[in-house]
Amino acid sequence: MLIRYLHYMELFAPYQKRFFDKSSSCPCGEPEETRDHFVYNCELWKAERSKGFSKNFMNLSLRQLLQNKYSYFTIKDMIMKRFLMSIEDI
Ligand SMILES: [Zn+2]
Repeated sequence: MLIRYLHYMELFAPYQKRFFDKSSSCPCGEPEETRDHFVYNCELWKAERSKGFSKNFMNLSLRQLLQNKYSYFTIKDMIMKRFLMSIEDI
């Protein structure tokens, strides 16, 4: 289920760019907001990651992260917050 949300998110940014002439860049300044950037690298979610992900999360696949209940709920929370950010942006 969350995989689908993350996939949707990846589609969402270019869609916004195409139809609303909005940038597909990440609010952190990264030129392209990809799924991997969002889950693993974006500095905006650093606090969430340090609370909910295990320390070796960079070595884990997205599927492995979603199989762990702590990182699962962390990613879910990040997606909700990110979604609210894009609504506020409209
Ligand atoms: Zn970012």
